[in-house]
Amino acid sequence: MTNLHQSGDARRIKVLFPTPLDRAFDYLPPDGADAPPPGAFVVAPFGGRDRIGVVWSPDLGSAGEGSPPVEKLKRVARALDAPPLAMDVLGFVRWTADYTMAPLGAALRLVVRSGDFAVPPAARNAYAAAPDAADLLAAKLTDARRRALVAADPPAPVADIAAAANVGEGVVRGLIKAGALRRVEMDPDPPFAPPDIARPGAPLSPEQATAAEKLRGHVAQGAGAMLLDGVTGAGKTEVYLEAVAAALNADPSAQVLIMIPEIALTLPFLARVADRFGAAPAAWHSELGAAARRRAWRRVADGNARIVVGARSALFLPYKNLRLIIVDEEHETAYKQEDGVIYQGRDLAVARGARGRFPVILVSATPSLESVVNVDQGRYGLARLRARFGGAAAPHVGLVDMRRDPPEKDAWLSPIAVQEVTRALDAGEQALLFLNRRGYAPVTICRKCGERMKSPKSDTWLVEHRFENRLVCHHTGFSMPKPSACPSCKAVDSLHPCGPGVERIAEEALARWPRARQAILSSDTAPTAPAMRDVLDRMAGGDIDLLVATQVVAKGHHFPNLTLVVVVDADMGLAGGDLRAGEKTFQLLSQVAGRAGRAEKPGRALLQTHQPGAPVFQALKAADRDAFLAAEADGRQALGFPPYGRLAAVILRSKDESALKATAEAHRRALFPADGVEVMGPAPAPIYRYRGEARMRFLIKARRDVNVQAFLAAWLDGAKTPNAVRRTIDIDPYSFL
Ligand code: ADP
Repeated sequence: MTNLHQSGDARRIKVLFPTPLDRAFDYLPPDGADAPPPGAFVVAPFGGRDRIGVVWSPDLGSAGEGSPPVEKLKRVARALDAPPLAMDVLGFVRWTADYTMAPLGAALRLVVRSGDFAVPPAARNAYAAAPDAADLLAAKLTDARRRALVAADPPAPVADIAAAANVGEGVVRGLIKAGALRRVEMDPDPPFAPPDIARPGAPLSPEQATAAEKLRGHVAQGAGAMLLDGVTGAGKTEVYLEAVAAALNADPSAQVLIMIPEIALTLPFLARVADRFGAAPAAWHSELGAAARRRAWRRVADGNARIVVGARSALFLPYKNLRLIIVDEEHETAYKQEDGVIYQGRDLAVARGARGRFPVILVSATPSLESVVNVDQGRYGLARLRARFGGAAAPHVGLVDMRRDPPEKDAWLSPIAVQEVTRALDAGEQALLFLNRRGYAPVTICRKCGERMKSPKSDTWLVEHRFENRLVCHHTGFSMPKPSACPSCKAVDSLHPCGPGVERIAEEALARWPRARQAILSSDTAPTAPAMRDVLDRMAGGDIDLLVATQVVAKGHHFPNLTLVVVVDADMGLAGGDLRAGEKTFQLLSQVAGRAGRAEKPGRALLQTHQPGAPVFQALKAADRDAFLAAEADGRQALGFPPYGRLAAVILRSKDESALKATAEAHRRALFPADGVEVMGPAPAPIYRYRGEARMRFLIKARRDVNVQAFLAAWLDGAKTPNAVRRTIDIDPYSFL
């Protein structure tokens, strides 16, 4: 331990702040105190004020140059009374910054956020009923007072008691004055109840038991990634919760993270985990309020929260002893973070496990090609579940050739689909019409002058939302009331919706099956997670006969009486230049089709397509995923695309188009030949103008053995960007808008 008699330089500590700077700064320890250890939270003067930072360890690699003479160093003001970040968390911050090419401080910010959570919160005053409250009040015990006393168990703050009892705060204060409510100190971040790891899980089928054993073995082995590949409804959750139990059992302080892609799924999922372990896990996602967030963060940091269920950002919680990560629905593109520090949560989970020397389990019914190839090449282990739990059959997938069986005029459902829906409804079963497009119509055109309604300052189409009678841009969020005249030629009532969105399909369904109980589900009709769950629960409970939905319906929901799924436009995801278009279509449509069917009555999915011969549809029809992935793999390998090669994107954006073009050109000139690297562009982005900025992109394709970050660093170092132009780097890009 450092002491006060050591020379100045030995006492120098490096502090990293959660700011987008790529370096730590040198300080002296707080006056009269020992140097805080690496990972400790400190308050230090920075940029004219005191800021919260973290002591960096030089063992984790350089954190920027510059070591001012010791006489010039300022002192850290004080160390905070918060558990220091574990070394593997700091190491992961370093790795994330290096991999994503984000500034080190920006990567730290993912963990410590603004730093406020490290400040111990003030204890809150709560009030509990005095044991002799009733005697004290005697005749003055009104109904309102009685309710307030009941609401004070467990102890709660004044406002909470008043709200729960539906009385004014004055009533509560009166009780305090009378001595009937007494002040107790409340932990502002109450601990999470410990999971009961002795509690048995559901009895497993033989196939499930074998897979669970394999996962437990993987956990015991203590490192590496394993893919749990099992059809929809196979009971993957039950199986991987056994691995969670094993990890918690093996080490009394072990923490486990279960990552899930969708916030809408969190609540039911939390309930499932709580059922299994008899205690609610810590949740971490964007809908959490500030207090719940701080509680989760602090309880993860002090090791109390042993099971965390969270979105991708939960990877960056300050775990004290993380020992296992489960990535559920590992193929989901929702794991990709597209703003700020751009990262792929699934890939970072694997990297996190490698750094922390603990196992990672990736779970999917339709794994990503990346993971499948990693299994094939022996980098990942594999556990498989081939049967649906309880013997339910996989849905039968049929193709409707829309060229041969087109819908009637101004309709979108083929005669075959209409007939099948009618049959399902007549049989008292449920049907799902799936279209992954929000709103009423994707494009609105003036019939007079041909004008297409666009978002201002963006090259994005406005989508008609008929329920609200507005035109909405799904990219920028811009919206306006639908005008009665064309803004360009002023013709009245000339604006015409082109193509269908879910609202238009719902309109058709209502006209065709007026007696069926119908509902529509998209992020517009159910904008909040509870609203969404309400519709899903009603569907699961049989209160809806016919559901029209976007992809929010695709995951994790079981509808026991759903026997028919119609995919209105199966071709939709195949347009555009996305290299994963086929793969994503396969994943989405298998998941949607997987909603249908139960043990007694197999489900059926009808895919409406104009290209029934496309390999992805043939594979869905034949239920031959492995052949499809093999063909995809061949195609990607031939082109050197991921997972056989690496991709990175450099995006330049500016309000000033000539500055943008000049900068793009300067970047092109700064390029140099490098072995195994091919740079394409600069090309205008597919949505060239976005929120007033024009955008150009370089796409970098590299052999797997090339250090693409080193290449980018060397190239971009020689190509400066003026203030008017912003530059972002996207390693492993997924979105090509
Ligand atoms: P998957 O994630 O593989 O699609 P789930 O884990 O959600 O499947 O399981 C599908 C359904 O089957 C769930 O309702 C689950 O509770 C049930 N289930 C799966 N395995 C078992 C089991 N061993 N015992 C009882 N119910 C099970």
